[in-house]
Amino acid sequence: MADNKFDVIVIGAGPAGYVCAIRCAQLGLKTACIDAFKGKDGKQALGGTCLNVGCIPSKALLDSSKQFWNLTQHFDVHGITAKDPKIDVKTMVGRKDKVVKQLTGGVGMLFKTNKITPFFGTGKLLKGNQVEVSGFDGSKQTLEAANVIIASGSVPIELPFAKFDNKYIIDNAGALDLDAVPKRLGVIGAGVIGLELGSVWRRLGAEVTVIEALPDFLGMADADIAKTAAREFKKQGLDIHLGAKVSKAEIKKGAVEVTYADKDGEHTVTVDKLLVAVGRRAFTEGLLGDGTGVKVDPRGRVEVDEHCWTGVDGVWAIGDCVRGPMLAHKGEEEGVMVAELIAGRAGHVDYDVIPSVVYTEPEIAWAGKTEQQCKDEGIPYKTGSFPFAANGRALAINEGVGLVKIIAHAETDRILGVHMVGPEVSELIAEGVVAMEFKGSSEDLARIIHAHPTLSEVVHEAALAVDKRSIHKAN
Ligand code: FAD
Ligand code: NAD
Repeated sequence: MADNKFDVIVIGAGPAGYVCAIRCAQLGLKTACIDAFKGKDGKQALGGTCLNVGCIPSKALLDSSKQFWNLTQHFDVHGITAKDPKIDVKTMVGRKDKVVKQLTGGVGMLFKTNKITPFFGTGKLLKGNQVEVSGFDGSKQTLEAANVIIASGSVPIELPFAKFDNKYIIDNAGALDLDAVPKRLGVIGAGVIGLELGSVWRRLGAEVTVIEALPDFLGMADADIAKTAAREFKKQGLDIHLGAKVSKAEIKKGAVEVTYADKDGEHTVTVDKLLVAVGRRAFTEGLLGDGTGVKVDPRGRVEVDEHCWTGVDGVWAIGDCVRGPMLAHKGEEEGVMVAELIAGRAGHVDYDVIPSVVYTEPEIAWAGKTEQQCKDEGIPYKTGSFPFAANGRALAINEGVGLVKIIAHAETDRILGVHMVGPEVSELIAEGVVAMEFKGSSEDLARIIHAHPTLSEVVHEAALAVDKRSIHKAN
């Protein structure tokens, strides 16, 4: 095959694109992957949003800030005191950068070992499955493949009255790279980014004000979980305003004056940095040449069917640039599905069981239907809950906050949803996901032996509670 001819070309090397490229190569397909991302050093960096300015760096800073928070807030109960604890933001951000570099370099190594050809620059899909690559060095070349997979990801939504200047008004990348703890941090949007990155800087001492347009807190989570989380965030000093409409953000005397209105009238809050985290939008600018036949919906997302096929022969799209939740693991699974379909195998994503996790303190995690969704859809259901406060391991590690709630079908007992708020629930949710994928019942979970003492016993007890037979609480 000529150097510019491939079986598969993937545009974008985020978690959707790079995983897809690896699976294609594993299946014996000659694969190229084009990526336009430049890291902090101005050089090419594989891994997309997730590895460079998303999942991984946010979790690195969440960990550093959690260590500091524990030291300043929780160590005293263990009889441990530390004199005058300080945070060196430069070192903290430097550690985060090292983790990012290790992982983005790791993707490069995986490309090498799987014989994937990387191209650094911008890819544009042309008619007839050709892709024009405009390299970082100004070069242009045209590649060809039987199959092209678009995995161009997403970018933060900008508010017209609060444009990012990355000095005062910042996006996720800016909030991951502050050089000092801001005295006052404003956050527009109490979604996942607002809560995670708001928590990072709150734990390090910033006064954090979060302004959310919707009247309900964390509307996509089950109401019992959202209520517990809201109470804990309030205790931590996150000042969250719901049902609040922001109308202005003006930079005045080295600070940002934010004007918003809620049911009590108009308010102004002055902050040193303003993080705008009001969602992300699919990124498809400059991606599609004339006459490709690929359609984009009114929200800018590439239109695809349930198999991520665009309807154009050999053209597929996966990850944040298509419908569905903007989550790395959702994009990865779509990447694997498409690779397997191209190689003539069966490929499938179960869109009903995609876990969601918010990595705050306490952590929040869920999969499947909420109680409200069951009500709205007229599904007969029963629920069982168990609190971490009644779990030996949670108390031993001083983390007795939160609960696990299981929703099962009232007649068949099949698990419909698993909802959690509490310690390590980002890991515990996997048990709920496995049970749901295997079409398990609450009885199945209730009969499985869980090691003692572990946090997973809370999942076990919640399953027992579905039929009112929890052992360690009154039913
Ligand atoms: P991206 O990761 O956005 O990658 C797309 C890549 O394509 C980029 O490198 C881009 O430069 C490149 N590209 C775009 N257009 C072109 C073109 N024309 N030519 C060449 N290259 C192009 N998700 C989770 O599941 N868990 C988390 O904990 C989590 N935390 C997050 C924290 C933050 C702060 C943010 C912002 C996001 C987080 N997400 C998380 C979401 C997650 O990052 C995205 O869902 C995921 O990165 C989407 O993967 P993707 O491959 O579709 O797109
Ligand atoms: P989001 O959709 O989670 O939250 C945005 C919030 O902003 C919503 O609550 C929305 O009601 C609010 N909002 C919108 N416009 C507003 C306005 N004008 N004024 C006030 N509030 C407004 O979006 P995000 O937090 O920006 O995150 C983007 C995506 O990244 C999400 O879809 C999420 O899936 C993904 N992400 C995932 C994780 C994770 O999995 N842990 C972490 C971070 C980001």
